[in-house]
Amino acid sequence: MWNSPKVGILGGGQLGRMLVESANRLNIQCNVLDAENAPAKQISFHDGHVTGSFKEREAVRQLAKTCDVLTAEIEHVDTYALEEVASEVRMEPSWQAIRTIQNKFNQKEHLRKYGIPMADHRELVKNTPEELAAVGEQLGYPMMLKSKTMAYDGRGNFRVNSKADIPEALEALKDRPLYAEKWAYFKMELAVMAIKTKDGVLSYPTVETVQEDSICKLVYAPARNVSDKINQEAQALARKAVSAFEGKGAFGVEMFLLEDDSLMLCEIASRIHNSGHYTIEGCALSQFDSHMRAILDLPIPAKSLEIRTPSIMLNIIGGATPDSHLKAAEAALSIPNASIHLYSKGAAKPGRKMGHVTVTAATMHEAETMIQPLVDIVDEMRA
Ligand code: ATP
Ligand code: MG
Ligand code: MG
Repeated sequence: MWNSPKVGILGGGQLGRMLVESANRLNIQCNVLDAENAPAKQISFHDGHVTGSFKEREAVRQLAKTCDVLTAEIEHVDTYALEEVASEVRMEPSWQAIRTIQNKFNQKEHLRKYGIPMADHRELVKNTPEELAAVGEQLGYPMMLKSKTMAYDGRGNFRVNSKADIPEALEALKDRPLYAEKWAYFKMELAVMAIKTKDGVLSYPTVETVQEDSICKLVYAPARNVSDKINQEAQALARKAVSAFEGKGAFGVEMFLLEDDSLMLCEIASRIHNSGHYTIEGCALSQFDSHMRAILDLPIPAKSLEIRTPSIMLNIIGGATPDSHLKAAEAALSIPNASIHLYSKGAAKPGRKMGHVTVTAATMHEAETMIQPLVDIVDEMRA
């Protein structure tokens, strides 16, 4: 039996909260570093939490003193603080992996060395209209201008349709380090949760993700109308990409399925991920269970990562009014087979992820039929 380890988590948002839910069942104490009353702290009462930010060096040092292993629910952490405490406490995944991944351009440069297929891209160094126009000549239009750092939910992306959009694009992403990507004409977006353990990399099945305004809206598990060959190829690509990084734990791998059925990596997250929420109801071990086990070197039977029942996850996102998300959750109460997760993040803002609902059923068609009324309600509430 393991020796009641204490796990330190940088970040106490919804991902940290679901990690704590999982850890609670194994009686593992999680010390969370975030603001007081952060969602993850609300469900875990003990005196080991640290008040502060995962971007503050002193707060990270303080957290490191209290635990056996550190992990993060977010990639935008102070990796220099993590490097400093590396001799005192184990960090999973490694600070090196997080440092490379948190900068999307560096992440891609790193993955290129491992032969991972990706959209062609160019770094910007001066962020001037002339420089971006030259990149546009090379990549063609449309292209996606992206912030290298601090990007999430599409906040950091700007679609540049033609040369005429360049001033607006640079204004929208001003003062941020930038690169540009060739447009990926995908027929579908896929994702795979990969779990890096002391022995190798395991993967959950391939799911289909649907983004609206660059924010994940729906996840279909398994991906609909995707052949077993593509499902296997996507998992293999995810495992290969994740193998390029040091450390243990869950990694979310986003991909594009192109018209010719080839796959391209969109990006990797060095953490538990929205595209893996379905695993809570859909699999024997959730991504949160697997992450905990991976960082603590506990066994993970590969069979426990299989999908037991077709599942659809719908995000509940802040809408037109401050209580839109509560109305959606209320409506979900009457949806058969719906499991509701509210994150208790306080005030809703348009575009903010406030919760999610997963519907499971014997067939994907049945799950689609059951969740449709909720999708309609969520669509009506959009800001
Ligand atoms: P996340 O919340 O997943 O971290 P993010 O802000 O890091 O999102 P990306 O994952 O890079 O942003 O992009 C968000 C979405 O924008 C993608 O899921 C895809 O729908 C679209 N997108 C990104 N890059 C491209 C591209 N090169 N061509 C076409 N669409 C793209
Ligand atoms: Mg991202
Ligand atoms: Mg993404």
